[in-house]
Amino acid sequence: MRIFDPHIHMTSRTTDDYEAMYAAGVRALVEPAFWLGQPRTSVGSFTDYFDGLVGWEPFRAGQFGIRHHCTIALNPKEAGDPRCRGVLDVLPRYLAKDGVVAVGEIGYDAMTPEEDSAFAAQLRLAVEHDLPVLVHTPHRDKALGTRRSLEMVAESGIPPGRVVIDHLNEVTVGLVRDSGCWMGFSIYPDTKMDEERMVRLLGEYGTDRMLVNSAADWGRSDPLKTASTGAAMLAAGFTEDDVDKVLWRNPVAFYGQSGRLDLGGIDIAEPTATYAGNSVLRGER
Ligand SMILES: [Zn+2]
Repeated sequence: MRIFDPHIHMTSRTTDDYEAMYAAGVRALVEPAFWLGQPRTSVGSFTDYFDGLVGWEPFRAGQFGIRHHCTIALNPKEAGDPRCRGVLDVLPRYLAKDGVVAVGEIGYDAMTPEEDSAFAAQLRLAVEHDLPVLVHTPHRDKALGTRRSLEMVAESGIPPGRVVIDHLNEVTVGLVRDSGCWMGFSIYPDTKMDEERMVRLLGEYGTDRMLVNSAADWGRSDPLKTASTGAAMLAAGFTEDDVDKVLWRNPVAFYGQSGRLDLGGIDIAEPTATYAGNSVLRGER
């Protein structure tokens, strides 16, 4: 099974996770820029984080044989903080970089007017930079948040085929399917969506425009949920080709619209390799 995880926050994960992901078949991933749990208080905290997403983290992933790409944005959770609004001004220089394959995660958290304006501004940036978009849907009021997100996407003029609406469930999947946008699902240990429900949705809605991710981050989450969903698909009678489509070809097709995916094989470097003078080793062997 070859796996492309289209949404996983590796900055929060360990080298054990990278090793387990590689063993399970993960060969490529996208790490969206998001909230760190601790609110940031200045634009500089964001630019250091973004530099890590295009620099150190791809280096670290490469040490474990995995191609790392990212999406860059001001996330909805911090879009309402006036100290963070200046992030919108630095985004264009990141959206021009190799390895940045979409604008995201953007969207709604509490659906405030500040979130509206950051969402609209970043959809404009996606159009200007000819990049796909990753839209996060809120954990509360998900149906309303999804509907408003789809309206925002429609108003922006961006083609729906260049947008994924993420963290969907049984209530919101139909709305997104009818919009022409891609449908994203985050498989979690005990919330949002699990493997069995995901398999039922794939049975009901088919495999076109469907993206499955682990969304693993600093919270309770599991970076192998993509692989366990593939196993659940096979157990339910889906073919190997169906699994390959959902877990590899679909994310490649979606993020490939950026023209920036790099899926060449990686020669796993010696662990002594360095990035800006630093390696993943801790002291001498
Ligand atoms: Zn996320």
